[in-house]
Amino acid sequence: MRVYARTPLDISKVIVPRGQVHLIPERCKGCEICVQFCPQNVLCISDERNQKGYRIPMVIPGKETECVNCEFCTLVCPEFAIFTLPWNGDHDG
Ligand code: SF4
Ligand code: SF4
Repeated sequence: MRVYARTPLDISKVIVPRGQVHLIPERCKGCEICVQFCPQNVLCISDERNQKGYRIPMVIPGKETECVNCEFCTLVCPEFAIFTLPWNGDHDG
């Protein structure tokens, strides 16, 4: 069977959004739901613990520009502990 690769006609106009991940550490309970559900596999659980003793998520080193600001992590977090903002081009702060 022959498979045809199809390219959207407006592909050159598509702009992939970028997001910057923010965490409110003291709210996190380390459940890893955000890690499991991120479609870009941007997140992982770090070795850092919050005041409650839970290990908190972080952006995987090297994937700082791969968040697409889909806000899915925010949607699934049961503690309202993680959110993203449109990337302003600065990942240092
Ligand atoms: S906004 Fe989307 S891509 Fe970015 S970290 Fe959250 S789930 Fe992943
Ligand atoms: S889903 Fe929320 S509470 Fe669970 S690890 Fe992620 S930020 Fe923490």
